[in-house]
Amino acid sequence: MDYETGSKMLNTHQCSQCKAPLSLIWDADANDYALVCGTDHSHQGYERIVSPGQEVARGGADKVTGPGAQADLEKQLAKAEHPLSMLPAKDLGDNKAIAKQALEALVKWGLSLGLKPYLGHVCLYHGKPYVTIDGYYYKLYKNMTPIRIGTRPLSIDERSEYHVPEGAHAFLAESWLGNTRLPTTGLGVVTQEELDGKSERDPEKWRSPVAHAHPQRMAEKRAEWQVLRKLVPLEEVEL
Ligand SMILES: [Zn+2]
Repeated sequence: MDYETGSKMLNTHQCSQCKAPLSLIWDADANDYALVCGTDHSHQGYERIVSPGQEVARGGADKVTGPGAQADLEKQLAKAEHPLSMLPAKDLGDNKAIAKQALEALVKWGLSLGLKPYLGHVCLYHGKPYVTIDGYYYKLYKNMTPIRIGTRPLSIDERSEYHVPEGAHAFLAESWLGNTRLPTTGLGVVTQEELDGKSERDPEKWRSPVAHAHPQRMAEKRAEWQVLRKLVPLEEVEL
């Protein structure tokens, strides 16, 4: 990976196996920079360091405030009347305001999958409902599945293997069970065309403002979402 990307990831990622900070080294064999676990070079997988708020959204309130916190939070969520303002107000794809009826349908759909819509587990993207990254992690942790996810930019060889267009940002999300790498991966690509595209409605604006502001982060999120989508089945639950 390029030096700049690697340096940035030192601040935002950690070893997914032991949570240690990462080191950036020169890998002479690959003729490229590489990130490694700062404690044990044999460790694999770099995960994004999540904020306490995200930890809670993913079902990890116990880790943030102590044992029983998650159960308490979910009891409160089940009892309380929630203002619709706790839900995403805008469609993540076209940025249009979501109508009250569509929000209510989104909440119902989320609940039917055993998710907590008020923790940000569902969203609308171009009018279609999706489970968010936090929602998938919530299901993964709920099922006590000890799967680890790591994300990283594609190597030069992988970019040609996956036919990534010139200038595009591309991330790979990988999964492990213990030390065993699983065959399930996710690819996230943000193309130059997408970054430079102007809105059809308003040519003064970018078509994908989020991708334009944070293309690498966007590619990484897409990769992570893809691997989670494959790993976590969505099944309706009894309400
Ligand atoms: Zn480690």
